[in-house]
Amino acid sequence: MKKILKSLSLFILVLLGLTACATKETSKVSKNKHNEPVVTVTTSFLNDMVKELAGNYVKRELIIPAGEDPHLYVAKSSDLKKLQEADLVLYHGLHFEGKMVDALESKGSAVTKGFSKEDIGTMDEDGEKVVDPHFWFDIDLYKKAVKEASKELKSLVPEHKKEIAKNTKEYLSDLDELDQWNKEALSVIPKESRYLVTPHDAFNYFARRYDFTLYAPQGVSTDSEVANSDMMETVNLINEHHIKAIFTESTTNPERMKKLQEAVAAKGGKVAVVTGHGKELFSDSLAPDGQDGDTYIDMYKHNTKLIVESLQ
Ligand SMILES: [Zn+2]
Repeated sequence: MKKILKSLSLFILVLLGLTACATKETSKVSKNKHNEPVVTVTTSFLNDMVKELAGNYVKRELIIPAGEDPHLYVAKSSDLKKLQEADLVLYHGLHFEGKMVDALESKGSAVTKGFSKEDIGTMDEDGEKVVDPHFWFDIDLYKKAVKEASKELKSLVPEHKKEIAKNTKEYLSDLDELDQWNKEALSVIPKESRYLVTPHDAFNYFARRYDFTLYAPQGVSTDSEVANSDMMETVNLINEHHIKAIFTESTTNPERMKKLQEAVAAKGGKVAVVTGHGKELFSDSLAPDGQDGDTYIDMYKHNTKLIVESLQ
């Protein structure tokens, strides 16, 4: 499988090179009519971040649409064009955009590149320690990423350096407020109920920051089948701690959590599955534009409210 991925990445790189040759002549004239520099971002998180920091001074291009799973997303030829034509490419890094790594490393700038070893969590995947990419649920780390993006944007549009610096300062203060709001909202959940059971391992940073124990039977990846032994371990945990509710996510299949619920019932327990439109946790994507959770701050509040009402 790894070999196939490697040759696929090589193919993408070659394709990128070809696109580069083909579009070189036209890339200057293809800029938008206001002549703003183009910033291509991989995810809805970064789209929102760039909008907050420099929305009036750059044109944004998004690669992975909101609602799609970045772990599994494979770049289309139109995406490679967006990468090639961008004046700046921002991506998460930490192998979040797992199937686009080579293309991004050759052209883009990772907002996590200044993270220290201590910042970055690790997790277990099939007995192997892997980097945990879901840093955005630690608001301090999200602020670090904001600062990195701000630096890149200021050097991209130095004529608006001052305005971007002002936007950055205000946004960082909004993020501090959000952190405080989260702490207060979550404080109503008693210590013995602070167990978060989610499909895949996206909430380790959340758990670390707000003192929860996380169980994710699917592991770090979103394409692995849940191993039976992991499932039974989670079933036992749910029954032992009388966990009231388990969660689904907007980017993964809710059926797995329903299977877990059945397995709990088979062992004599009872647990609710929090699911359905507006009742899913946002883990790896914001909501599509115009829906509740379409900004980072609203997404986080949505998650916190859902966790509070389901577990308190
Ligand atoms: Zn994930």
